[in-house]
Amino acid sequence: MATNTHTPIEITHELIEAIHAFPVEREVEHCGRKLSVSPFDFYATCPQCGTRMKLRAFSGATELEDVFDAVFEWMNDPAGRVIADRRQAEIVDDSED
Ligand SMILES: [Zn+2]
Repeated sequence: MATNTHTPIEITHELIEAIHAFPVEREVEHCGRKLSVSPFDFYATCPQCGTRMKLRAFSGATELEDVFDAVFEWMNDPAGRVIADRRQAEIVDDSED
């Protein structure tokens, strides 16, 4: 039977806390108006003047959004999706106790 080998990665308590606290929307301000967008959007367009604003870094700095994207990508695998759905249901059950 194959055993999984895990590369040791330092997962800090701060990282877990930051994921828990991750906002479901990002507020962008342009032309004195506030616009609510997805935190995963790479760009937003000001509805007032049409300016396209870059919201995420593409390379270099790794952002928390990249952690989410990696998980989302993992869940795109049908098997990953099934496991994720099951685990999410378990977490809901646990929180209802
Ligand atoms: Zn604008």
